[in-house]
Amino acid sequence: MLLRAGLNGNSAYALLAELTTACGPRLSGSPGAARAVDLTAAMMRRYGFVNVRAESLMVPHWVRGPVEDAQLLDGRGRRRALAVAALGGSVATPRTGITAGVIEVRSFDELRAAGPRAAGKIVFFNRPMDPTTFNTFGGYGGAVDQRASGAIEAARVGAVGVIVRSVTLAHDNVPHTGSMSYADSIVKIPAVAIGIRDAELLSTTVARDPRARVRIRLSCQTLPDAPSANVLGELVGSERPDEVIVIGGHLDCWDKGVGAHDDGAGCMQAIEALRLLKVLGITPKRTIRAVMFMNEENGSRGGRAYAADPHRTTERHVAAIEADRGGFTPRGFAVQADSATVERVRRWAPLLDIVGAGQISAGHAGVDVSPIVDAGATGFGLIVDHHRYFDVHHSANDTLQAVHPRELELGAIAGALLVYLLSEEGL
Ligand SMILES: [Zn+2]
Repeated sequence: MLLRAGLNGNSAYALLAELTTACGPRLSGSPGAARAVDLTAAMMRRYGFVNVRAESLMVPHWVRGPVEDAQLLDGRGRRRALAVAALGGSVATPRTGITAGVIEVRSFDELRAAGPRAAGKIVFFNRPMDPTTFNTFGGYGGAVDQRASGAIEAARVGAVGVIVRSVTLAHDNVPHTGSMSYADSIVKIPAVAIGIRDAELLSTTVARDPRARVRIRLSCQTLPDAPSANVLGELVGSERPDEVIVIGGHLDCWDKGVGAHDDGAGCMQAIEALRLLKVLGITPKRTIRAVMFMNEENGSRGGRAYAADPHRTTERHVAAIEADRGGFTPRGFAVQADSATVERVRRWAPLLDIVGAGQISAGHAGVDVSPIVDAGATGFGLIVDHHRYFDVHHSANDTLQAVHPRELELGAIAGALLVYLLSEEGL
């Protein structure tokens, strides 16, 4: 029934089209994120969910700004534009930019070994995401340290800026942004991601031309924290209304694309899962709640605020499901719980296999639901086909067109099946 109802309409994709078209990019604190709060609440009311509400919180507010430019200047005075994007949270450059020689490294060890040779330079972290790692999340995890803490490590050795090879396997020239950190005690230097083709161009240029330099200009800035909200709506349980099953994704996204895969997909799948149960006339035994978490990308404030909200004190969370690995073909669920619980979940594998989502394994559920899981709920993360995710992740490639309606819907149906089973049978 769920399968037919879902695949007949592909409504998750219609919802995603509405979200991405009406709101555009949705970085925390942006007008797009504010519109998404209102829009998703309106979607939930439209489908008759109850207790639809926005729970307020404050979020970091970083803005990219209009100036974002890098030029490669070779030793003969020729210049060429490089495809770059400021990393989220980066400081700006001076108005005239920074211009410096480039030192290429592939690891923090290599950077430390370079020592004083890196002083006054722009450090170029050029370790690729390992294509031989089968699970692309593993490959991502093996390269993302350069983006996350490259600016700290580079500043430690006296560098003036950072260029990071985009953490992607795509062979295009689209830069992939993402969060980065600074340390309070270490000078903050600007940091950008560079497209893969330009990373290769920069690498070969620097290797053969010791006089090559790069000029970077950025006008990004961090503004005071801004008000925002998580958005909730639910189907109230008929027998155990105070026992809650959460299903959600994060509503914010990086600003270069419209966050269709990351994570408009997970949000719309959550709404679609509840909508499907409702149109089929199903009243769950336990309360099933869709949650649009705010600010996963650059602060995770929404996940923490949800778990800490005073409303939570009268509720018991049985399970929390997060979909935040892209809107691709579902494969199964990672279960964050002890092995006996994982085994119990496995009894549902044949049912979940109706949509190809029967692979049940122990694993991390998701960033947003992590505080709920820490408080005792069983966590679930929707596992999808992951091979194309990092082609689009955190970049201008993350568009509605990159999502396939059928694949997205199958993930929503998998979510609907799981919340229904949890609601009826418990764990
Ligand atoms: Zn995400």
